[in-house]
Amino acid sequence: MKANAIRIHEHGGPEVMRWEEVEVPPAGPGEVTIRNHACGLNFIDTYQRSGLYPLTMPSGLGLEAAGMVEAVGPGVTEFKPGDRVAYCSAPNGAYATIRNYPAERLVKLPDTVDFETAAGMMLQGMTVEFLLRRTYPVKAGDFVLFHAAAGGVGTIAMQWLASLGAVTIGTAGSPEKCAIAKSLGATHVINYRSEDWVKRVKEITDGKGVHVVYDGVGKDTFLPSLDCLRMRGMMVTFGNASGPAPEIQPLILSQKGSLFLTRPTLFHYIASRSDLELSAGALFDVVNRGLVKIQIGHRYPLKDAAEAHRDLQARKTTGATILIP
Ligand code: NDP
Repeated sequence: MKANAIRIHEHGGPEVMRWEEVEVPPAGPGEVTIRNHACGLNFIDTYQRSGLYPLTMPSGLGLEAAGMVEAVGPGVTEFKPGDRVAYCSAPNGAYATIRNYPAERLVKLPDTVDFETAAGMMLQGMTVEFLLRRTYPVKAGDFVLFHAAAGGVGTIAMQWLASLGAVTIGTAGSPEKCAIAKSLGATHVINYRSEDWVKRVKEITDGKGVHVVYDGVGKDTFLPSLDCLRMRGMMVTFGNASGPAPEIQPLILSQKGSLFLTRPTLFHYIASRSDLELSAGALFDVVNRGLVKIQIGHRYPLKDAAEAHRDLQARKTTGATILIP
């Protein structure tokens, strides 16, 4: 079957992304053929395109999409043509009109979740799930510093944290982005491009610091974030939007208050089928109960994915961005 996909033949800037015609073979054992209705744009797609996270060339791009099962391969019993599904794991190649994908990594969508919402929430929402529930389990009253609070992950986190009763300090790069974070439940917002945010965090926490920092920005925020933590607080560095976090000596964690440091990735928190179902189930639950409303800020035709990458990396987007095949 013929399809179209964004593919890369070398690592580099957005210009290496090509819109190509591809041949999709019949689904193999354990696979399903999916017609994607909406694809998710994630910051990790830019790392995989640039080579920060290397791929074997040539390669498809994109990890996340939602769509309809067209056909199932030998041995697939849990899915049938017509099922509404979503996914957000390897193998790469979600930026495609039609593709084959392993059934064991697929999730069935509840009737209440449409394709665009699903494409805007699976990867970022399950990330928030594992960060808030399984990395540092946030309790009511905890002080939480969350960077890039108006982004895809951030807009989900602001709402989920509010539902847990945390005191959330959200940082963002403009007054407009701070207003978005505030409207989604942040207790305090700080424009970290114009304010002394470490000082503000100390003031807000009466000099004690926060219980946990969730940092997807990396290079620019990692070291100052250690100064925002209270004794025995936890630093969760989970992304590189400004570049990878610098190397440190473990001793610094002692000097700054016997801190905990972790650098988790979603894929280790949804590696087993049971963890994938647990994470997706918790996400569907908060969305169905109206505790988290997915903020789709931008839509691009899939063939213009390069433009979407440019805008994401230029900090022009808020909330989730989706690509429409
Ligand atoms: P976002 O929508 O949050 O976009 C990234 C945001 O980071 C920007 O909008 C910008 O917001 C902020 N930022 C700060 N400095 C820079 C910079 N120098 N260049 C670009 N952006 C910058 O992206 P996602 O929601 O997709 O992802 C957020 C982070 O979470 C990423 O680092 C991503 O890799 C990470 N992530 C990690 C996962 C994991 O499993 N470990 C899973 C999913 C995401 P502002 O202008 O407000 O500063």
